[in-house]
Order: sequence, then C-alpha cells, then structure tokens
Amino acid sequence: MTQRIAVIGAGIIGLSVARMLALKGAQVTLFDKSVPGAGTSQISFAWVNANGKSPESYHSLNAAGIEAHKRLQRNSGATTPWLLETGTWEWAADSAMRAQLETRVARLIRLGYPSQTVTREALLAHFPELRLDARIQQGWFFPSECLLYPGLLIGWLRNQVRSLGGQLFPYTEVIALSEQASGVTLELSDGERWVGDRVILATGRWSAELVSQLGFDLAMTDANRPDNVACSFLAYTDPLPLQINSNIISPELNIRPEGGGRLLLQALDLDEHADPARPVSTEGAIGQAFLRRLRRMFVQTEGARIARIEVGQRSRPADGLPALGFVGGSGRIYLMVSHSGMTLAPVLGELVAEEMMTGRRSEMLADFAPQRLMTPFTGKSGGNTPAYLPAAQ
Ligand SMILES: Cc1cc2nc3c(=O)[nH]c(=O)nc-3n(C[C@H](O)[C@H](O)[C@H](O)COP(=O)(O)OP(=O)(O)OC[C@H]3O[C@@H](n4cnc5c(N)ncnc54)[C@H](O)[C@@H]3O)c2cc1C
Repeated sequence: MTQRIAVIGAGIIGLSVARMLALKGAQVTLFDKSVPGAGTSQISFAWVNANGKSPESYHSLNAAGIEAHKRLQRNSGATTPWLLETGTWEWAADSAMRAQLETRVARLIRLGYPSQTVTREALLAHFPELRLDARIQQGWFFPSECLLYPGLLIGWLRNQVRSLGGQLFPYTEVIALSEQASGVTLELSDGERWVGDRVILATGRWSAELVSQLGFDLAMTDANRPDNVACSFLAYTDPLPLQINSNIISPELNIRPEGGGRLLLQALDLDEHADPARPVSTEGAIGQAFLRRLRRMFVQTEGARIARIEVGQRSRPADGLPALGFVGGSGRIYLMVSHSGMTLAPVLGELVAEEMMTGRRSEMLADFAPQRLMTPFTGKSGGNTPAYLPAAQ
C-alpha cells in the first residue's frame, strides 16, 4: 500500500528527502510555515565540504555529501547549474595558524580527502588581484569541494516534488502532532488536519518545539543566542571587477562568488558580535571591518560597497553533529536536523528515504541517532551548548 508521509519544513533538508520519498513511490505532503527555503537555508555560506569535520564518521558523511551533490547535478538534466565544482583555496597568516592547517591537512590526507599544497605563485595566478603578504609562500587547495547556489537547488527540488505528485503547502504551520497506533495526526495553522502513516521533522532550528510535544527536550543550540556558535554575519557586496571564481578561506575573510560579480563574505572572528535581535547596518563598525579587510586583500576594491549584512542563525544540535532517526514511541516520526545541511542534504535525502521505505538504516547514520540529545520533557531545553565549535561550516 502507498505510504502517506508528511515532511514538515521545506528547507534544503526537507525538500531533499521529500523528493527522494516521492521518487520511491511515497505519497508526500510537505508543509512549511513560511515559503520553501525561507529558514536557515536562505542565509548560508553554502560551501560543500568535509574539511575539518570530526569525528571520522561525520567527515565520511560530509564526503559522501559532496559526491551526492555532484551525482544529483549530473543526473538532474537541469539547464541552470547550482553547484560550482571549483575547489577551495586556503592559506595561513602566521606560523601558529600554519601549523594548525598542516595538522588538519595531514589528517585529511590520511582520510583520503583530496588536498594539495600550492605555491605562492599558483595562488597569485589563480587570483590575479590578490595582495598576498610577502611572508605567505604556500597555500592549500581542496579540489573536490564545491559551492552551492541554494536558491537554484531549492527551486529545482520544489518543482521536482510537485512533478512527482507531491503536495506542498506554504504558509501552513504544523502546530501540533500526535501518534496513534494506526498513524500520525498533524494539526495545521489553517484549522485543517493531516492524517497519514509517517512524518519527518525537517524543521531545522525550530525542531525542539515539535519534539517537546512527543515528551522530550531536544538539546539544540539556541539560535537566538547572540554569539559565534549560534550565529554568523554574512556580508553581500555589490558587483566588483575581481576574478574570483572559487572559494577562498583566508586568515581575514572567507570569500565566495555570489553571481554577477558579487561576493559573499564571512569573518568568523567578528561573529562574537552577531545578534539576531540587532541587525547591523552596512555603514556601521561591522560593515566597515568587512570593507577594510576586502580592500587590504585585493586591488581594484577602492569602490567596493557592502550591499547588505545578514545574521545567519544556525540549525545546530547541541553537540554540533546531526540528529537523524526516529523519535517517539511508534517508529512513525523521524527527526532530521543538522548543521552543514548544505553539504549533507542530498546524501541525507537518499539515506533517510531508504530507511523510511525499507526499514534498512545505513551504517553511515550509526553515530547520529537523536536519543543522545533527548531527555524527558521539562520545558527547559535550548541554549544547551558544549564548548565545541566546528572549525569548518
Ligand atoms: C551563517 C551560516 C553559514 C552556513 N554555512 C554553511 C556552509 O558553508 N556549508 C554547509 O554545508 N552548511 C552551512 N550552514 C548550515 C546550513 O545552512 C543549514 O544546515 C541548512 O540550511 C539547514 O537546512 P534545514 O532544511 O534543516 O533548515 P531550514 O532551512 O531552516 O528549514 C526548516 C524549515 O522548517 C520550517 N518550519 C519550522 N517549524 C515548522 C512548523 N512547525 N510547521 C511548518 N514549517 C516549519 C521553517 O519555516 C523552515 O523553512 C550555514 C548556516 C549558517 C547560519
């Protein structure tokens, strides 16, 4: 009999799993309290990578994420590519940073992750407008890494879900969920009800709210907390005459092309000032710091302008690792919440749809059951974050 599965949340993760479920023959209904991609997926650096991700099982999952992205784009038949297979270029400012980078690269090479050293000359040839400190004689290149245009992929996934017979209800919040022996019932904000066989919670940073209705606190980083674990500034420039076609991770700025000559900038050391309740202006101290750094790094940036600065809010389980598996007593409600969702969405879509439809759980998900983050409900969850911050996105 056809399985009726609801996916709550039409971010990159919910859309990815909804498409795979529909491909496998499920009757899929997708609900979002806003529009597809309007949550964390809208404000993301979207660097597809497995760089600096621990433990090894998390690295492997992310490495599989890169391959799943490449497969998806190759097989999609889409005329507008959303994945730039450009690799990442990185360098260090001083000997301490360089030693850290060398340790990270040595581990990546042990894990079989493509990593190369590059000369100063190669860096300058690849980025002709770069002003590189004379002390920097070497960098690293990670050729398998990619950049994603999330809006393009989200649009394609949304169309795919619909053309495979799935239904999508935007502006429809799931306000309550309950399990019965025979199925799951969702109460919707428009007063309607959905009744079906199974539900996936792909509700990102809001996941604790619905999990609490199943009787559990879910330990998530409080995404409203003003600090660098929960939040990050992203600065979008106006178009610039620079030849930057790949990802840069540098001591002062992370930089990626954003289309039409625009760049997207991130500076992790500024993020201690990030507060979702206090938007910053492009003219203020944070905007000026981004501009100063950009001008120091490249020639032809005298006229550079920051068009806007956003505060991204992470969707992050408290230990930084994904939470993927059934919650509740009936084996009908499945949680999918993860940081690094831009990298992971296609592979998680494949693995979770397979588990839902066949009962077979991939070995790749063995370390990520959500129970490690769940305690009986007290109403006090949120902001429960250990002092662990992944080195990479
Ligand atoms: C600044 C920043 C930089 C990042 N950089 C990277 C990077 O370089 N590489 C990388 O891999 N990852 C990166 N990430 C992480 C990545 O963006 C996220 O992991 C990913 O977007 C999460 O997607 P999601 O679908 O789980 O969540 P979301 O996109 O937030 O989707 C959840 C959806 O659920 C809906 N929803 C919630 N509750 C309900 C409800 N009750 N009823 C109906 N709908 C509901 C919301 O409206 C939302 O649309 C970054 C994140 C940030 C903040």
